[in-house]
Amino acid sequence: MNIQQLVLASHNTGKLKELQAMLGGGITLRSVGEFSSAEPEETGLSFVENAILKARNAARLSGLPALADDSGLAVDYLGGAPGIYSARYAGGQGDSANNAKLLDALRGVPSAQRGAQFVCVLALVRHASDPLPILCEGLWQGRILEVARGDHGFGYDPLFWVPERECSSAELSPAEKNQLSHRARAMALLRERLGLA
Ligand code: IMP
Repeated sequence: MNIQQLVLASHNTGKLKELQAMLGGGITLRSVGEFSSAEPEETGLSFVENAILKARNAARLSGLPALADDSGLAVDYLGGAPGIYSARYAGGQGDSANNAKLLDALRGVPSAQRGAQFVCVLALVRHASDPLPILCEGLWQGRILEVARGDHGFGYDPLFWVPERECSSAELSPAEKNQLSHRARAMALLRERLGLA
């Protein structure tokens, strides 16, 4: 497949820069914001469904092949919650309210039962009605701490223990996190699928 440009289904310039760096220079990522400010309702029940929905929407708005990511934190003890609702787990009050709610939900739960994974699904569609989206899933396994640690990153990073580094993901430098993270893993798979690896 010869793709030179992909429209990223996100208005977040930080995310665009991060994903462009992981994708490499061969393909230029453009923001869907260049075409429209409308954002689709994320009505799916899974990361995969929402990523496909966002990618199709961006392809429809731009007339170009499109890439979308959907990510979040899935906690084993909570049946995969907050999952696709990670950003608004505490009702849209932001990261510290989300983290406080998560700590509450796991209060008294022993360490061995606090397993969790960050999940990232990337969906690439060649056009809005592409029947065969390319799907790449990246999982980053860890567990949920009892007390927040570290100042880097965002979201649930201060509560996510990274066993291979023996620190929280908020204690990793951005460069280290970008080598290990769910997004990095999903992007490495995408590079392989596109013949860029
Ligand atoms: P989005 O798909 O980038 O909008 O992320 C959804 C939500 O999942 C974020 O708002 C965070 O709450 C959580 N999340 C996703 N990736 C990370 C991460 O790398 N660190 C911490 N939280 C994350």
